[in-house]
Amino acid sequence: MSLENTLAESTIEHETYSSVPDGYRPGKAKFIVVTGSVMSGVGKGTFSGALATLLSCHGLKVSPVKFDGYLNYDAGTLNPYRHGEVFVLEDGTECDLDLGSYERALHANLTKDNYLTAGKIFKMIFDKERTGKYLGRDVQFIPHVTGEIKNFLRELAVKTNADIILVEVGGTVGDLENSYFVEAMRELRYEEGKENVMFINVTYIIEPDSLHEYKSKAAQIGLRQLMALGIQPDVMICRSQTPIPYSIKEKISIFGNVDLDRVYNLYNFSNVYGIPLILRDLGLDNEILSILNISPKGNGNTVLNFENWKGFVDKIKGRNRDIVVGIVGKYTNVHDSYLSIVKALEHSAPYFGVNVRIKWIEATDIEDGKITVEESLLNVDGVIVPGGFGKRGIEGKIAAIKYARERNVPYLGLCYGMQLAVVEFARNVCGLKTAHTTEVNPSTDCPVIDIIPEQKDKLKNSEMGGTMRLGGYPAKLKEGSLVRNLYNKDVVIERHRHRWELNPEFHKTLEENGMSLSGVYEERNLVEFIELPNHKFFIATQAHAEFTSRPLEPNPLFMGFVHVMVNNYVS
Ligand code: GLN
Repeated sequence: MSLENTLAESTIEHETYSSVPDGYRPGKAKFIVVTGSVMSGVGKGTFSGALATLLSCHGLKVSPVKFDGYLNYDAGTLNPYRHGEVFVLEDGTECDLDLGSYERALHANLTKDNYLTAGKIFKMIFDKERTGKYLGRDVQFIPHVTGEIKNFLRELAVKTNADIILVEVGGTVGDLENSYFVEAMRELRYEEGKENVMFINVTYIIEPDSLHEYKSKAAQIGLRQLMALGIQPDVMICRSQTPIPYSIKEKISIFGNVDLDRVYNLYNFSNVYGIPLILRDLGLDNEILSILNISPKGNGNTVLNFENWKGFVDKIKGRNRDIVVGIVGKYTNVHDSYLSIVKALEHSAPYFGVNVRIKWIEATDIEDGKITVEESLLNVDGVIVPGGFGKRGIEGKIAAIKYARERNVPYLGLCYGMQLAVVEFARNVCGLKTAHTTEVNPSTDCPVIDIIPEQKDKLKNSEMGGTMRLGGYPAKLKEGSLVRNLYNKDVVIERHRHRWELNPEFHKTLEENGMSLSGVYEERNLVEFIELPNHKFFIATQAHAEFTSRPLEPNPLFMGFVHVMVNNYVS
C-alpha cells in the first residue's frame, strides 16, 4: 500500500489514522529506530549517542527523539534521586538526561520536539478529543495513539529538515509501557517502506559466572519478542563484557533473520568517546547508509567532524595525571544526579592533559558533623557546589564554600551553588549574620536570596510543573571580569532552572564588600554571574552552565576551572 493511500483520512469509514503535516515528503528524512531487548541498562542510549555522532561526522543532519514510557508530562517533577538529573533545553523544556547525551553527541541544541513521553502524547490526545478533533470516532490505541506518535515524528522531520530522525525507544521490548510505541514504529515502516525506516536492536549476551561461556538464549528470546511484535531488525548490536565467539554471532544471525555481517559485537565501553570511531571501524556507518540508500555529505560540519573527534579521543588517551574535584551535594550516592557536571569536567580535562577524578562529598555529613569540612576537602584541587533544592545539607555546602573562599581553593558554584555562595559571603564578609535564602528561612530579616513576585504567585497556586525560570537567558558580562575573559563574549546565554534570585536590594552591599556581580540579565536586573576578584578562581552562576558543554566545545567556565586547578596542582 502506498503512503498516500494509507495516510488518506481517519474518519468513521477508515481504520487508519495517520495525519501528515503540511510539507511532509516521504523519504526525505530517513528513520532509524533503536530498540533494546533482554534487559535495561545495556547501553542503548550510549550506543545511540555514538551513532548520532558518527552519522553527524558524515555531514548528515541527525535529529534524535527519545521516547519515555512514563506518564509524567515532562521530567520537571521527577526526583533526581530516583531518576537522575533533570536536563534543561534552551527552550526551557525539562527533560530526561538522555536529551543531554544527544546534545553532547551532536553538538547541537535540541527542542521540545525532540522529547516525547507517554504523558505528552496522552495529554495531546485528550485535548484533541475534548475539542472534537477525532470526528466522532472512538479514540483507540490503534490507530489514534500510534497515529499521533507517527505524526509527532513526521512533524519533527518537517521542522528540522533532518536527513535522519534517530528514534530511541526507552525501556525494553516486551514492556507494556512502550508496546504501543513499538507498534507505531512497525506501522511507520509499513507506511514509509524499508528503504526509509530501519530497525537496530541492541541486545545483551550473557556470560553466567558459573559457566564461563557466552549464552545467547536470553538474546534469542528478546529477538522473538521483537519479531512477535512484527518488527524485523536490520542490524543487531550485541553488547557483552568481552568479545563474543563467532558461533554466538551466527546464532543471533539465524534466529533474527539478520545477515551475519549486520550482527555487531560491542564489548568495550571503557572510553565512551571512542565508540563512534569503533562503530566506524566496524563498518556500521556504511551498512546503515546502504540500507537507507543515502550518501554522506562530506566530512561533517566545522566543529563535529572525524578529524576533530579523533583529536579529542587521542587527547583522552594521552592524559598523564589526575586532578581531584570535590562535588559537595545532596544526591552524591546517585551520580547520575549530576551527570552533566561530570560530563563538562570530562570535556575540559583532556585539553589540559589531565583526568578529573571526582570526590563525592555528602553535604549532610558535614552538616551533621560526621566529617569536618577540612577532612572532606583535604587534597581536592577544586570545589563545586551544584544545583539543589531545599534545606537539607545547605549548612554543609555553605561551610565548604567558606573553606574554598578562605583558603583560595578554586570554586565553581552552579545555581544553588551561587545562591549559597552569596549567603556565605553576606554572613562572613559583609557581617550580615542572619543572611539567608527565603527558600530555607522564609522569615529571615536579611533575605539576600529571595523569590521574585511572579514565582511567588505560581508557588501559591501549587503550580509545580514547568513553572520555574527555565531555559536560556542572556547575561551581559562585565568588561574586565574573569567570566568576560573566559567566554570571550559580551553576552552569553546559559540555561536556568530555579525560582529564587539574588535579591537586588543587596547588590550594593555585596559589591562594596568586594564581590563582583559580573554578569546580569539586564531586562530584569537579575544577577547571573558573581566572582571574587582577589581569589584565584571563585566564580558562580545562577545558571546551569554544565548543560551547554560539549566535548569539542567545552563550557568556558569549566575550562577556566580545570585550567586553574592544573596550574595549582595540590593533590
Ligand atoms: N533551589 C534554588 C531555586 O529554586 C536553586 C535551584 C537549582 O539549583 N537548580 O532557586
